[in-house]
Amino acid sequence: MIIECACKKYKFAVKAEEIGINGRVVQCGVCDEKWFQEPASSEEFKVLKDNHIKEEEKKKEEAKNQKPKKKSLAKTIFQLNMKIKVR
Ligand SMILES: [Zn+2]
Repeated sequence: MIIECACKKYKFAVKAEEIGINGRVVQCGVCDEKWFQEPASSEEFKVLKDNHIKEEEKKKEEAKNQKPKKKSLAKTIFQLNMKIKVR
C-alpha cells in the first residue's frame, strides 16, 4: 500500500501487514513527522485479518513457552524509509 506523509511532501510504499489491522503510529523517515496511519483497504484488510488470526494462534502457542516481552513505545512507531517518487 502507498501512504502519504502528514507533511504531504512524501509518499511511502509499505506492506499492509506492517500497518496491521488496527492501524499504527508511523514516522516519516525524511521529516520525522509522526501520525496515526489508518489500516489497509477492505480487501487487504480481509487478508490481514485472516493472517492476524493465524498469528494470534501462533502467539498463543509461543506464549506457553515464553515469557511475554514488554514493548517500548519507540518500537511501536514504524519508521517510513521506503520513499517513493510522487511524480
Ligand atoms: Zn514527511
